[in-house]
Amino acid sequence: MSTIVMSVNAGSSSLKFQVFRMPEEEVLTQGNIERIGLEDSIFGITVNGKKLKETQHIANHGEAVKILMDKLMELKIVNDLNDIDAIGHRIVQGGSYFDHSVKVDEDVVSKVDELAALAPLHNPAALVGYRAFADALPDCVHTFVFDTAFFQTMPPENYIYPLPYEMYLTDKIRRYGAHGTSHKYLTHRLAEIQNKPIDEMNIITCHLGGGASIAAVKNGRAFKISMGFTPLGGIMMGTRCGDIDPAIIVYLFRKYHYTPDELDDVLNKKSGVLGISGISSDTRDVEAAARDGNKRAILTFDIYVSRVVETIAGYYGLMGGADAIVFTAGIGENSDFIRRNVCKRLKCIGVEFSDQRNKEMRGREGLISTDESKMKVYVIPTNEELMIARDAYKVWKHEHNVE
Ligand code: ADP
Repeated sequence: MSTIVMSVNAGSSSLKFQVFRMPEEEVLTQGNIERIGLEDSIFGITVNGKKLKETQHIANHGEAVKILMDKLMELKIVNDLNDIDAIGHRIVQGGSYFDHSVKVDEDVVSKVDELAALAPLHNPAALVGYRAFADALPDCVHTFVFDTAFFQTMPPENYIYPLPYEMYLTDKIRRYGAHGTSHKYLTHRLAEIQNKPIDEMNIITCHLGGGASIAAVKNGRAFKISMGFTPLGGIMMGTRCGDIDPAIIVYLFRKYHYTPDELDDVLNKKSGVLGISGISSDTRDVEAAARDGNKRAILTFDIYVSRVVETIAGYYGLMGGADAIVFTAGIGENSDFIRRNVCKRLKCIGVEFSDQRNKEMRGREGLISTDESKMKVYVIPTNEELMIARDAYKVWKHEHNVE
């Protein structure tokens, strides 16, 4: 008998969903509700490869869930709301509380609420989404899947900052990371491709999208992640600066008397690819400008590539070697230009790069190093929704005593 599982990613004004038949992992439908709360909210859903799009006022997440459920029945994806057995909700920040996905109860909700201070844009919005689904579907098994959980296996030397130790104890300031669901998916998928047990996976996974992070995975478990206390840390991103000398922040406060919100805006929304290029946060626009010889566009890629290279090479050293590098997300899956420039500089750690394979690889799975390369380099499109659905299905099976 099949089980119907939905993965949900709720933001402050959006709600992404994907419905699976498990254990077959068949996608029945997927879609996105955007601009919730505005007059012209957009409801988009794809069924049998056909995209439907409707514009209407959707006042809040509760209404969005009601419209979604009605649509699922109208399209005969389910006959009855009770056909949905489990829902996996993506939660960005699980702090040190959660090292795996859990069935939601009052205690879990209150911990996620408490952690809102560490993810003010994400955790409260996800809880609003969860409550809307819990009201509509009280009998279905609700599971929280945390973006930070995969990184709870990191050794302390890789998550404690060299600040006064009390700040770690009292204020819980430490590296939590993010994109954990994606890095875990890549690890599991590559193990399948290479036909290896998970605990033999020693790899470096690069999630390069608007947000970007690089993870070191040792013996199948997270060993280090470039994102830090928040998703602002690590490598350079679309609009985020990544790691910078912390004294710059103190200097800017003193010099310009920024408010915390203003400075947060500079570091999160005006830096990175957008900040250096002055053109766009989208690497496609900046690549076009670089091809036309725009000096700041060229500099943007020089900095971007240098950050990625130093992180990969650093993690190689930290782990005492690795067997493979994986690229994913918008840039990692599509930009042969960035992949080539990164890989060219990684000969020192055994990368023999195939220009031909790289050029042909776009948005699909495959090898971009040569067959002889000591270090294998792959492109694997990430699938966070499937990972969330797998975890929700696991919790559902546990609840129903199914093997
Ligand atoms: P996020 O979900 O973090 O916003 P995505 O993984 O969707 O990010 O990645 C979006 C980014 O991927 C875009 O901002 C763009 O920079 C980059 N991107 C997408 N397609 C291409 C492409 N064909 N070539 C280069 N960069 C691309």
